[in-house]
Amino acid sequence: MDPDRMDEMARDPRFIPGIYNYCDQWCQRCALTSRCMNYAMALEEDAGGCESQDVENEAFWDKLHETFDATIGGLEEAAEAMDLDIDEEDFDESLDEQEEIRETVHAQPFSRTAMRYIDVAEQWLRSHEDLASAGPADMRDCLEVIRWYQHQIWVKLSRAADGAIRAGIDDMEGFREDADGSAKVAILGIERSLAAWATLLNQFPDHEDAIFAMGTLRRLLRQVEAAFPNARAFRRPGFDPE
Ligand code: SF4
Repeated sequence: MDPDRMDEMARDPRFIPGIYNYCDQWCQRCALTSRCMNYAMALEEDAGGCESQDVENEAFWDKLHETFDATIGGLEEAAEAMDLDIDEEDFDESLDEQEEIRETVHAQPFSRTAMRYIDVAEQWLRSHEDLASAGPADMRDCLEVIRWYQHQIWVKLSRAADGAIRAGIDDMEGFREDADGSAKVAILGIERSLAAWATLLNQFPDHEDAIFAMGTLRRLLRQVEAAFPNARAFRRPGFDPE
């Protein structure tokens, strides 16, 4: 998108600043699309049609190629701002630290449970594929909800864990708050998924094996609430009014 147009949109009072930072990215089901600049930008880009998209894509790659040198310069500046020298040994140390954080994130009990949930849900969904095509509309809605959050819960929790660990290392309140925001999005995804599973089970009691997915989610919810006790109080711009 043209940068001037982007600036103009950023000043438009209709849009809530940062609303897209703590949403579930499910624009199709979002009740605040009219207040979201990301959504409006995507609409404008779609309205351009295929030809305009082709022209934009070509310009994008040309520009990327032209600015290769500037990009490298920018990388060095960014590294300097973070007190890193990418050509020195301490850069390797920073990479190692990054790797350690990643491993710690994955070792958290809630990360493991969220990963487990992905598998448990996947097994159930695969063995009931017929429901997605032949089931009634409200059942398909439930399956859609389950699918939407199935991986997102783990992604949001990984971001939350990463932020919490960095907050501990660098003692930065911003990281902690961001971690609570990501954890809150995960909690909402867990609760919506639980509601969708419960609806499925009510309508089709013979699919009682859904209980394994529900039990895993309920355990996950307890773990997340224990690890992020302030997450529910976090106010997401636009979604959680003062
Ligand atoms: S706030 Fe709503 S419209 Fe905007 S990106 Fe998030 S889900 Fe999509």
